[in-house]
Amino acid sequence: MSAREKYDRIFKLLKEHSEFFNRSIPLIASENVTSPAVREALTSDFGHRYAEGWPGERVYAGCRYIDEVELMALELAKEIFRAEFVDVRPISGVCANLIMYTAFTEPGDRIMALSIPTGGHISMGRKRLWGTAGAVHGLKVQYFEYDDESLNIDVDKTVKRIRRLESRGDHIKLYLFGASVFPFPHPVKEIAEVAREYDAKVAYDAAHVAGLIGAGLFQDPLREGADCVQMSTHKTFFGPQRGMIASWEKYAERLKNAAFPANLSNHHLHSLAALAVALCEFKEFGRAYAEQVIRNAQALGQALYERGFKVLGEKLGFTKSHVLLIDVVDTPLKNGRRVEMELEKAGIIVNRNLLPYDIREGRHFMEPGGIRIGTSELTRLGMKESEMVEIAEFMKRVVIKGEDPKRVARDVAEFRKGYQYCHYCFEEAAEAYKYLGLR
Ligand SMILES: *Cc1c(COP(=O)(O)O)cnc(C)c1O
Repeated sequence: MSAREKYDRIFKLLKEHSEFFNRSIPLIASENVTSPAVREALTSDFGHRYAEGWPGERVYAGCRYIDEVELMALELAKEIFRAEFVDVRPISGVCANLIMYTAFTEPGDRIMALSIPTGGHISMGRKRLWGTAGAVHGLKVQYFEYDDESLNIDVDKTVKRIRRLESRGDHIKLYLFGASVFPFPHPVKEIAEVAREYDAKVAYDAAHVAGLIGAGLFQDPLREGADCVQMSTHKTFFGPQRGMIASWEKYAERLKNAAFPANLSNHHLHSLAALAVALCEFKEFGRAYAEQVIRNAQALGQALYERGFKVLGEKLGFTKSHVLLIDVVDTPLKNGRRVEMELEKAGIIVNRNLLPYDIREGRHFMEPGGIRIGTSELTRLGMKESEMVEIAEFMKRVVIKGEDPKRVARDVAEFRKGYQYCHYCFEEAAEAYKYLGLR
């Protein structure tokens, strides 16, 4: 292909991708869809500029409009997260975690976080796994003890482990809560009390649950003992792909320096503007949105369970967030990878996921025993509890009954025609997945 042919092909693919999502059911727990307003801000000239430093103290000229937008974003984020200090410059959740590591730890320090099979994110991982904490910041990583039954950190066993480590001189400098499979609130308060005894810091990775926390649902880590909360702004929080930090005034200087110059130069100003817009939307509509996200997740969990899916966390009502974890080992498709592939053919987009007990049972991340699904994006499209029942039925036809996924795809596309717009925003102007052309 010539460059010109490739160029044309790229635009064709972009359009086909939009059409694909327009007829599909998006269930990836880390994804969401932004409003037309957020997408408009993303195409603005802010995306060609630099604004290093703090608003009002920039190292370049030409920032007068950018500064005002960033200051409004800071004000809104402080209100939404009830925080003394926020930074809206991190360009992603991983970047926010790196800023936190830089502010509160030194290379060689020991931290405690969740392992990957129990829901931990690779940015909390050991060097051996190319985890960011180990590979980039030189941290040693100990794991929280985990209880498969309650899908949560086991407080008693973890406290025993902390005391054992501390008594032999292996000091934990920082406790990092939060996860990528995060159905139930973590015991921040209980473990923060023990952390304080040993003069450790407490951080909370809210990448997945930022929208739920901003809405005052799920849990309130800053009030439960966290020194710092890092997040992505595009999972349950319905903004552009980006990151954010919420913390206390006493840490403001070190967090600012850990952001710029330590971990950032350009902070991607088009997406900063888009975040500012999303924060306005969230302030107005976030609570109603997040309540519906959780209701939908619980309804979908129940509907799948009733149709023979082994949804974990049954005794606790499956979830208190947007996410569900499903063990598919006993279905005809046998593993998460095949379930993911067959569902995609039916226009239902989910991701394979390790179950907490997968590694012990000899399974690995390429063919894990589970799938993870989330309700953030469907909720933004205006779906409610009754639609969750229809989705569970589509999933049953593919995964349990073994119906031809292409036939199910036709019904999925028909079903999706009723949900073309983005809700919980000021203007439902264009369709949610409309391809916006400028050429
Ligand atoms: C998604 C995720 C991240 C990374 O966020 P990005 O914005 O993709 O960099 C960090 N931590 C957790 C727990 C996550 O789930």
